[in-house]
Amino acid sequence: MLTFQELVSITKGEALQYKQSLPIVQLLTDSRKLSQPGSTLFFAIKGRWNDGHTYLKQLFKQGVRQFVVESLTEAEAQQLYPEANIIWVPNSMEALQAAAAWHRAQFQIPVVAITGSNGKTIVKEWLSQVLSSEEQVVKSPRSYNSQVGVPLSVWQLEANHTFAVFEAGISLPGEMEKLQRIIQPTIGIFTNIGTAHDGGFTSQEQKVEEKLKLFQEVELLIYSSDYTLLHEAVQQKNISSLTWSKKQEADVKITDITAAGHKSIVVYTYQGQKQRLSIPFTDEASIENALHCLSMLLYRNLPLHEIQNRLDKLHPVAMRLEMKEAINGCYLIDDTYNNDLAGLKIALDLLASQPKQRKHTLILSDLLESGLQQEKLYTHVAELVTARGVERLIGIGPTIQAHAAKFSGETAFYSSTTDFLQQFQLSSFRNEVILVKGARVFEFEKIVQAFQQKVHGTVLEVNLDALVHNLNFYRSKLTPDTRLMVMVKAFAYGSGSFEVANLLQFHRVDYLAVAYADEGVQLREHGITLPIMVMNPSPDSFAKLKQNNLEPEIYSLEQLQQLVFSLTEGESINIHLKLDTGMHRLGFTAEDFTELFALLRQHPQAKVVSAFSHLAGADEALHNDFSRMQIDTFRTLVAAVEEALGYKVTKHILNSAGIVRFPEHHLDMARLGIGIYGVEATGSEQESLRPVSMLKTTVSQVKSIKAGETVGYSRKGFAEHDKIIATIAIGYADGYDRRFSNGVGEVIIKGKRAPIIGNVCMDMCMVDVTGIEVKAGDEVIVFGPQLTLVELAARIGTIPYELLTNVSTRVKRVFYAE
Ligand SMILES: *Cc1c(COP(=O)(O)O)cnc(C)c1O
Repeated sequence: MLTFQELVSITKGEALQYKQSLPIVQLLTDSRKLSQPGSTLFFAIKGRWNDGHTYLKQLFKQGVRQFVVESLTEAEAQQLYPEANIIWVPNSMEALQAAAAWHRAQFQIPVVAITGSNGKTIVKEWLSQVLSSEEQVVKSPRSYNSQVGVPLSVWQLEANHTFAVFEAGISLPGEMEKLQRIIQPTIGIFTNIGTAHDGGFTSQEQKVEEKLKLFQEVELLIYSSDYTLLHEAVQQKNISSLTWSKKQEADVKITDITAAGHKSIVVYTYQGQKQRLSIPFTDEASIENALHCLSMLLYRNLPLHEIQNRLDKLHPVAMRLEMKEAINGCYLIDDTYNNDLAGLKIALDLLASQPKQRKHTLILSDLLESGLQQEKLYTHVAELVTARGVERLIGIGPTIQAHAAKFSGETAFYSSTTDFLQQFQLSSFRNEVILVKGARVFEFEKIVQAFQQKVHGTVLEVNLDALVHNLNFYRSKLTPDTRLMVMVKAFAYGSGSFEVANLLQFHRVDYLAVAYADEGVQLREHGITLPIMVMNPSPDSFAKLKQNNLEPEIYSLEQLQQLVFSLTEGESINIHLKLDTGMHRLGFTAEDFTELFALLRQHPQAKVVSAFSHLAGADEALHNDFSRMQIDTFRTLVAAVEEALGYKVTKHILNSAGIVRFPEHHLDMARLGIGIYGVEATGSEQESLRPVSMLKTTVSQVKSIKAGETVGYSRKGFAEHDKIIATIAIGYADGYDRRFSNGVGEVIIKGKRAPIIGNVCMDMCMVDVTGIEVKAGDEVIVFGPQLTLVELAARIGTIPYELLTNVSTRVKRVFYAE
């Protein structure tokens, strides 16, 4: 085990303070993921928008006694953290990586590193599936493949492991060498090279070159030589390899792949022998992933029948952790595909990040963790469950039941899923967040079904990782001192206000804004504690504002008078002054200033925390001069406000488009709206954002109609020849605009576009699916990455904002993380 003294020398740091001998078991970089303080070593990393040093005091209070820091003096250490062991290093991130590299070097087992554009996580999961019968496999949790994720993955290595699989992902040159030093792989897999635009690299060649640095010392690299660029680079570097190819000579030469039902029959030649195998998938991506696994099994010299055995067991990997509304005001986190310790930790972190307004419940199956002794495993699980604040535990399976005594608090145990479903009263679950975490064999999807609210065919899927990606994109654009307010008005642009707000709170944005007091109250009821600005507070909502610590936008003298009148003796309130600089919607102009300032001086209990204005044309370059004029006017007006008040206020004027267009005017804060939801309003940086929401529905019925017949109301849909049409379960009451009628709109079914035929009805519409193989129940994409909001909005002469916010609340929202 790593000791403090070793750590000092490994990290090339200095011991600021050494007080007691403590075990270093957990490495921590995110203060919110603390579970066992007594054996935790915290690395205070300075990130782009967060500084780990901010959390030292809090962690010390929670019992952490071992720290790696970059900025702290000996005197501060002594005064603030009297009993702690503290190492000073020039760079905490590098210290974390050095500690992980040291740990890795203690093990002499095969270590596989996987990189590539797609499929890393699936190949990792599958390798562990096909090797688990003879190896004790340790693997990266989910997609822990970054500069921080890789060290934490490698740190999991323990003496009982006999085989390791880690994934590595990079976004910038220079990063892979670091990951190579941490993983020290003995075998490599390069899954593929995508053509996707990759911000950090100048060319595909540079990207391949950089990624190959992971494999500079491997004894074997597995890849497909059909990726020419990759193949040439590997040959040039003389890396010993095992290649497979569908096109040319290779170690594994694939001569035929034929689909047969749900399987694909693969014919290949390896070491001069022609063989046939079946793979339980038919889509191209899965076949590619499976061929990498096949190559690994061939390399390990397994007999053919054994290889077939293992491939038969491959099953799809659920890449997402879904969150959805459930019965009785409950909320469900659905993670029913695997249940190992690392996965459990991640899912518990997500549970712990949910507001405490709802009770936190865990339904957990036996863990299928290879190697660890059961006694030790369940003791650890019990500690973890307590540390993560789980208030109610339901254990399902003979093993967890046998260890029931280790768990404290409100618990119940069942020997099987069927037992649970038969005995348990679902009505005893009320206002809880329930994490459902089980290994596949336990078929926990049955529990999810029992809890889930009836979904009518239409759902809006919201990708929380994409939201965070977009948030970080705008943060990277912002001048470092500029704070960020995120607009969650109108149900977070249709995406689900509380869920989005909770994520934003977790990612530490500075402010939220809503349109009406009720929206703010709802966020408070769901445990949102961030400051919230309310843009359109009516006088009858002032009491609510005060009770819920919401901050009104004030745009008129009359409104300000009513507000101060409503304040009782000793009461005060934070307000935001709206200045009209040319939008001519709401706000004060210079003409109001004499009276405004007099009122504010008279009533200092209305404290102006910010002053702001809104640009009328930030999204269009055409209006740049006007926007600059607005910004100038704002600067002048706000200077007068500050002078009159005698104190500084937070100044903000830019929306999403403004952040991109006017980097020189970020001021104290910016107000991010549509951009975080995936639409870049200026159009120039759309590529850097990820689409956040996907609206999906299903086919209700398919029918054939004859030439000359008509479809739908007013007989507007006319079949000029025989057609196959599908009725789909979405209409204008769901927010599917009636202007999409008669071919203006299209949807995607089976990857193909199908135009709307006839008028859009209230709850349904019909699409022309002639030439597409469609049956009732098939999935229909109304908008998403392949059919963008920008395109659809243009078709009906509106803007993406309207399409997003129109998605009716009766459409169920499903949130997921990758
Ligand atoms: C909605 C809104 C924003 C955000 O605008 P986007 O174009 O969505 O970025 C900013 N400020 C105010 C006052 C708003 O009403």
